[in-house]
Amino acid sequence: ASLDAIEVRDGAVKAFLQVSPELALDAAARIDAARAAGETLPPLAGVPLAIKDNMNLVGTRTTCASRMLENYESVYTATCVERMLQAGCLPMGKANMDEFAFGSSTESSAFHRTNNPWDTERVPGGSSGGSAAAVAAGEVALSLGSDTGGSIRQPASLCGIVGLKPTYGAVSRYGVVAFGSSLDQVGPFGRTVEDVALAMNALVGAGHDPYDCTSQDCPVDFLEHLEDSIEGKRVGIIPSFMEAEGLTFEVKQAVERAAHELEAQGAQLVEVDLPHLDAAIAAYYVIGPAEAFSNLARFDGIRYGYQEEGCANLTDQSSLSRAHGFGAEAKRRQMLGAYLLSSGVYDKYYYAAQKARTLITQDYNRAYEQVDTILMPASPRTAFKFGEISDPTQMYLSDLYTISINICGNGGISVPLGLGADTHLPVSAQLVGPAFKDRQLLTFARALE
Ligand code: GLN
Repeated sequence: ASLDAIEVRDGAVKAFLQVSPELALDAAARIDAARAAGETLPPLAGVPLAIKDNMNLVGTRTTCASRMLENYESVYTATCVERMLQAGCLPMGKANMDEFAFGSSTESSAFHRTNNPWDTERVPGGSSGGSAAAVAAGEVALSLGSDTGGSIRQPASLCGIVGLKPTYGAVSRYGVVAFGSSLDQVGPFGRTVEDVALAMNALVGAGHDPYDCTSQDCPVDFLEHLEDSIEGKRVGIIPSFMEAEGLTFEVKQAVERAAHELEAQGAQLVEVDLPHLDAAIAAYYVIGPAEAFSNLARFDGIRYGYQEEGCANLTDQSSLSRAHGFGAEAKRRQMLGAYLLSSGVYDKYYYAAQKARTLITQDYNRAYEQVDTILMPASPRTAFKFGEISDPTQMYLSDLYTISINICGNGGISVPLGLGADTHLPVSAQLVGPAFKDRQLLTFARALE
């Protein structure tokens, strides 16, 4: 049924870079055989899954939507993918994304654009735009994305589905092509909070992954407590966030309605002040590019990926392969990172950004002494038209609500709130919480469904 849905709908949506019917049907046949043999089936047996194309899966290419890796065959499978497959998911294919996950609209994919299933003239968000669109279009039930500065929560918001960025360290990053190693985190997209809880059980159930030293044991059943009452819980609101420039009236209105809904269910709304939040975007666009520059140095035109032919020497080989293998945004990030890490400049920006990171983390920790969760928008506006935001700095500002959560490493979830009063496109709220309290976020999210 999923292959049929992809066949019928993906021509218009273009969520996939590669569809992998053989892998999916093989996995399905194994489940059928297990069922016929009377074996107990794993919890997600037969659930179709889309995988962001920065995650390795043997039998597929892992392109990161880049010419640089256009022909790169995965030589091993990422732990997050492996765990979803162990839980019984069927790998339907690899989903489109912004090149190397740089972006908020999936427009920087080197291959094609992905259209928002709600209005194909609009972006699905990014960078995990293909993963979000595949679920929103009903082509798959679950998908995996990665979130370095909002790339799960923002496309979930623009596509009207649920997207969770777990706490940094909850899900292994082994086998996921690195962007900003101190910020990157893998998480699931689903149509409901319960679906996302099921996916989280698969992702974290087997505990610590020895292949990722930052991966933590979080032995938690995400389905437990899903239906708990939120009575007596304290929900924080950041007043400056609700007045931010660029926040559209319809999103603000929807988030305020969500706050009242939580209040009606017995939660208490509390205003919290996070004085250093203003520095979050600037700090992120120093730390992110610096780490990206370091991580992407491995694409040297020799060891991996695109190789320019006919070069006279090694220097040309490397620089021409990089010049022709990377797209504009990937180059912009790496040049920025190279500059920020150069001597003389390093102290001024990188060091300052790390200080801001500590202050923002302390702000959140202080807020969580007063509240259990904080409610805010996920994206300042609904899905925009292709080409509408052409200035990179404007695009960076669309991450206003998601970025500070990666800076402090905590969890955040995007929950759909129906259609906006003005654009009639999906609007959503974001709930964020303390480190490794992601299960509680699902309980709050469920209360808004
Ligand atoms: N939009 C942000 C960026 O361009 C976040 C991307 C992400 O989370 N991968 O860096």
